[in-house]
Amino acid sequence: MMHGNVIWRGELLENIKDHNADVAVIEAGLSGLSAAKILHERGLNAIVLEARDRVGGRTYTLRNEDVTYVDLGGSYVGPTQNRILRLADEFGIQTFLTQDTEDLIFHSKGRSKKITGAVPPVSGLLATLDVNNLFREIDEMGEEIPVDAPWDAPHAEEWDKMTVKEFFNQTIWTKGAWKLGEQTVNVCVTSESHEVSLLWFLWYLRQCGGSNRILSTDNGGQCRHVILAVPLPLQTRLTFDPPLPSLRNQLIQRVPMGSVIKTFVYYDRPFWQEKGHSGTAIIEDEEALVEFTFADTKPDSTKPAIMGLILAGRAKTCVALTKEERRDRICKLYARVFDTDQALKWVHYEELNWLAEQWSGGCYSAMMPPGFLTTFGRELRKPVGRIHFAGTETATEWSGYMEGAVQAGERAAREILFERGEINQSEIWKEEPENKVIVILFHI
Ligand SMILES: Cc1cc2nc3c(=O)[nH]c(=O)nc-3n(C[C@H](O)[C@H](O)[C@H](O)COP(=O)(O)OP(=O)(O)OC[C@H]3O[C@@H](n4cnc5c(N)ncnc54)[C@H](O)[C@@H]3O)c2cc1C
Repeated sequence: MMHGNVIWRGELLENIKDHNADVAVIEAGLSGLSAAKILHERGLNAIVLEARDRVGGRTYTLRNEDVTYVDLGGSYVGPTQNRILRLADEFGIQTFLTQDTEDLIFHSKGRSKKITGAVPPVSGLLATLDVNNLFREIDEMGEEIPVDAPWDAPHAEEWDKMTVKEFFNQTIWTKGAWKLGEQTVNVCVTSESHEVSLLWFLWYLRQCGGSNRILSTDNGGQCRHVILAVPLPLQTRLTFDPPLPSLRNQLIQRVPMGSVIKTFVYYDRPFWQEKGHSGTAIIEDEEALVEFTFADTKPDSTKPAIMGLILAGRAKTCVALTKEERRDRICKLYARVFDTDQALKWVHYEELNWLAEQWSGGCYSAMMPPGFLTTFGRELRKPVGRIHFAGTETATEWSGYMEGAVQAGERAAREILFERGEINQSEIWKEEPENKVIVILFHI
């Protein structure tokens, strides 16, 4: 890490006492590292405690001869994600446009067709009106929800008692809109509609800019403050002394992580381009493992690959398969979607099953079930003594994303700077100037 102060598991007990740190930051994901960076820049001694033997958490770049490099976790950024773009600029990290949203494949009922735009078409006037109505309702309801306090929305209690599935039952009339609604929940929050709170789902889309945007411990050392940014459900593994207050203690027991396996099939040539496709496909097929693909060829045109996401319930089911069985089923699926046997001729396969990751528990983020936000939401960012909470799940913009991790980490660091009298309270929630770099058109 750039400031030299990461302590890995095992080293922890021996080394932490020697650091005489001002702040212990627990986790070296983007949130913890962003917090440590701000504190370091203000001259504070921050140590970062990390359970894994690497930094990055839910972001992970694998490097080997077969793939050169590939992001098996978070990777796509887009407009309005200004903090992560600022950090990419600062560290000289190059970004590139990954694909063209004007040229997608929509695969349904065994047939593939070319479409434009991020939302797949539904057949029939009724279904089209139904889809328009669904997303208009979602955005209008979202407008009512304060991004920093969703539990204060006028309908917070009512919506937080409902699942998204119950809302779909009341709102959707056609099968086409149902499928699209379900797929939107799968792709956006790696969960099923019967699992998640309506209030939380509406808030999630709103804090990302609306449906259109989202689719197109000190352990006895002398640490004076702690920033805890470990994924919420994994905080139940920590021992707090003194114990956490009641609601915080229960909060961390009620937020399961989403389910996703990110897969990459490599080919000797980009056959999809030869057929005039960008490599992006939305797949609506009950039997399909993958629901969503992107081309992942490198910017210099090497290592042609298709990235595919196995999401929510499908991810939970297919962990029973071997890696090779998943690869073969995915290749057969791509042969149907891209309408060519070339898709069967894979040269390499990579995947990361985030459900099995001990220090993540799942991905992309924690999901909030009915009743959570109105009962526990106010506790999400409330410091407990000298413990301040970060992590993408505590963000108010792009929560669940890398941008949210940075916002949360920087905010927690500023809470500590405020407590130390180094900044005013009004500076804790700093506005981020717009970053005009357009990196990618489509993100999830
Ligand atoms: C497959 C996948 C695709 C994604 N796609 C995108 C995308 O395209 N765009 C986007 O913006 N975001 C994406 N995300 C989400 C994004 O990666 C996360 O929101 C973000 O990285 C979270 O950062 P964080 O620091 O809050 O948490 P994490 O990255 O989870 O960091 C938490 C850290 O805590 C450590 N830890 C856990 N327990 C302990 C402990 N007891 N003691 C010490 N350390 C501990 C973990 O090892 C980890 O390093 C994706 C995630 C996944 C998995």
